[in-house]
Parts: sequence; structure tokens; C-alpha cells
Amino acid sequence: MTVAIDGPAGSGKSTIAHIIADELGLMFMNTGSFYRGVTLALLRSLGGKSDGTGAAPADLSDEEAVVRFAEGVPLDYRNGRLHLGDEDVERYLRSDAVEAVVAPLSGIVGVRRVVNAKIRQIARNSNIVCEGRDMTTVVFPDAEHKFYLDASVSARALRRYSQGTSSLSLGEIERSIAARDEIDRNKKEGSLKIAPDAFYIDTSDLTIREVCDMIISKIHL
Ligand code: C5P
Repeated sequence: MTVAIDGPAGSGKSTIAHIIADELGLMFMNTGSFYRGVTLALLRSLGGKSDGTGAAPADLSDEEAVVRFAEGVPLDYRNGRLHLGDEDVERYLRSDAVEAVVAPLSGIVGVRRVVNAKIRQIARNSNIVCEGRDMTTVVFPDAEHKFYLDASVSARALRRYSQGTSSLSLGEIERSIAARDEIDRNKKEGSLKIAPDAFYIDTSDLTIREVCDMIISKIHL
């Protein structure tokens, strides 16, 4: 069984997909981690520290070179955690350095194809709950269960701010989320959109538990 969940940054997809996977005994997959992993590897290759901080500016204009680089990144996903080779890099994936580059990098069509192939390979023969931007539309268009989680920009910015992983102010996070939305909705391939057969939930005023209960009851219908 595949449960595919899409939605914009900060809509609660990751937390909710994780809980649903645990409660239904399915494998959890956060596909944004794959793009973050490629970004982290790129920043490290440009002299960045473990979390990518201090790297020379990434030149994404030579798309072929970036795709070649992505092809060589040893992405792996074990127990819901992204690895580069044997290194569990989860704790580095949400640094401001990665955050600043991941959205434009994920807009490169060739990078998306490399990542999608990896996701499908890891998901093969598994029962999974996966979340991202194009799970319901491109990666798993035949998923048995499809959901789209939405929330207002201000609700999403507040959630990200409360996670405490960013040194940015609430206003700066709000602007960066709005800019990210713009990039996500305008990608040449895999852009963020609501699949016609996805169940839409606005989570702005709902608790995590309420959203999980809605999803689980829909799956069990
Ligand atoms: O979900 P998360 O914010 O961790 O995703 C990181 C970045 O990867 C986002 O900026 C989004 O643009 C991109 N992404 C994507 N397709 C996916 C998942 C994430 O383009 N399936």
C-alpha cells in the first residue's frame, strides 16, 4: 500500500506522515530529505562544514554539472533517516545553509529524475507513507491513498519558527516560506499542485491529532 501526501513547506506533512506510518505499521519516507541530502553533499564539496555552513556559493546555472554531481551522491534511507553512504546526516539537513539552496536545486529537472529514481527504488516492494511535493502527481500517481495538506503562510511560519532549527526571525521565515511556495508552484516538472483525486485538508486550525484521525479514517473507509 502507498499513502502519498503532498503540500507546501510547514503544512505538517512530515510529522503527520510519521505518526500515520507508525500507527499503521508502514515505512515512513520524507522525500524532501533526498533533495536536502543532495544539497548538503554539494555544499560540503564546496568547502562547507558538516551542516554546509561556510561553503563557497553554489553555481546552479550549469545544470548538467549539478545533475552529474547528484548522480554520484550516495543517497540512502534507513529507518526514516537520510544517509550519505553510511553517515546519518538527518541533523544537518535543516541548517540555514541547506535551506537557502535546496529549493532552487530541486527545481533542476535532471536532479528531480535522479531523486525520483532513488525514491522509487527504495520504496519498491514496501508499504509506505511518503510525503513531498509531487508524490501524488508524479512519483506515485497510482498510490491507493492521496492527500494534500495545506495551511496559511503565517501558520506555517510559526510552526517552523517554533521548531527552533533556524536563526531567522519569524518575519524572515514567513518571507522565505512565501518565496519557497513560489518556487515550488512554478517548477518545470514536479511542481506543487493539488491532484484531482487527492483528499484536501487545510490544517491551519487543526491539531496534529485531528489531521491524523481524518487521514486514518479516510484510509479505512
Ligand atoms: O519538505 P522539505 O521542506 O523538507 O523539502 C525540501 C525542499 O525540497 C523543498 O524546498 C522542496 O522544494 C523540495 N522538494 C521537492 N519535491 C519533493 C520534496 C521536496 O521539490 N517531493
